Amino acid sequence: MIDNMFHSAALKLTVWYLSIIMIVSISFSGAVYHFASNELIRTSQRQQRFFDQYQYEFPPQVPGYENFRVRTLQSSMSDIRDELVVLNLSVLLLGGALSYYMARKTLRPIEDNMEAQRRFTGDASHELRTPLTVMQAENEVALRNPELTKKEAVDLLKSNLEEVAKLKALSDGLLRLANIDNNQLRSDVVSAKFVAERAIERWSKVAKDKKITIKTDLKEVNVQGDPDSLTDLVSILLDNAIKYGGGKPVSIKTYKKDKQVFIEVADHGQGIAAADLPHIFDRFYRADTSRNKNQIDGHGLGLAIAKQVADLHDGSIEVKSSAGHGSTFALRLPSV
Ligand code: ADP
Repeated sequence: MIDNMFHSAALKLTVWYLSIIMIVSISFSGAVYHFASNELIRTSQRQQRFFDQYQYEFPPQVPGYENFRVRTLQSSMSDIRDELVVLNLSVLLLGGALSYYMARKTLRPIEDNMEAQRRFTGDASHELRTPLTVMQAENEVALRNPELTKKEAVDLLKSNLEEVAKLKALSDGLLRLANIDNNQLRSDVVSAKFVAERAIERWSKVAKDKKITIKTDLKEVNVQGDPDSLTDLVSILLDNAIKYGGGKPVSIKTYKKDKQVFIEVADHGQGIAAADLPHIFDRFYRADTSRNKNQIDGHGLGLAIAKQVADLHDGSIEVKSSAGHGSTFALRLPSV
């Protein structure tokens, strides 16, 4: 369907491009023909005048000269016409091919964008469907049971609430992604230490409950940007370090090196396999280790959000990780 739409759009665009090329080529050929024929007529008339003078001075007349002159003129003009027609036919053929190529090239980014949107909608629907299906199945089973005990009903409600919490987390993530696209971010001078401390504050209770220590080494260095988005970004890295860190201590550092400010979050957990590394910033991507997917909550949106925020701050996120040896995520930002 989308392929057909783009094919017919490419054809329409080709016709437009080709029409423009042909209008220019035909007008140009018309002008060339006009100037060339005028020049030929003028040259021929000059020859005629010269010849008339020559005959006048040296009679008798050369027989058939007038005829010869007119025929030569007509044949030269017809040669020019033929050449221009061949030229325009070549322009039509070459221009057609070039126009189609240019039309495809023009439409390619739009096509890619639509494909990405389609994939995104598909992934989002899939993520929404899973908790809904679980809730539907559990509720149907409970309703069919005429002897449902109070304890079973409470368990069912608890399970429903867990699924609702997952749906809420997903919709929050989707909203954040959509808002970062449109948001006008603030551009304040922000202390990286302050950003890291706010992120730690958000996760300190969770870390404490899981008996995970957060080690810090925070230097007072400044960056330019939106304090809330940067805090969200570091929170995502810290959340992941706690989630995937295997219960071992995680550490967070801020420092300056080569006119760049780094906020670095490291864990000593399961690490990321080399095959997964190029994809972890993709929306909805979750590394395919069974422990990840089945036991650790998430929708694969965190790092996509983090990358978007880093990009908007002219920064980047560098990852060092190997399976089984933990991971280090370093947010690099230009210093002020
Ligand atoms: P989520 O954590 O919700 O799955 P993210 O976008 O934050 O989504 O991360 C994408 C994937 O990258 C995770 O599912 C996980 O497989 C991998 N990942 C991210 N951070 C870490 C980490 N610190 N250690 C190991 N794997 C990680």
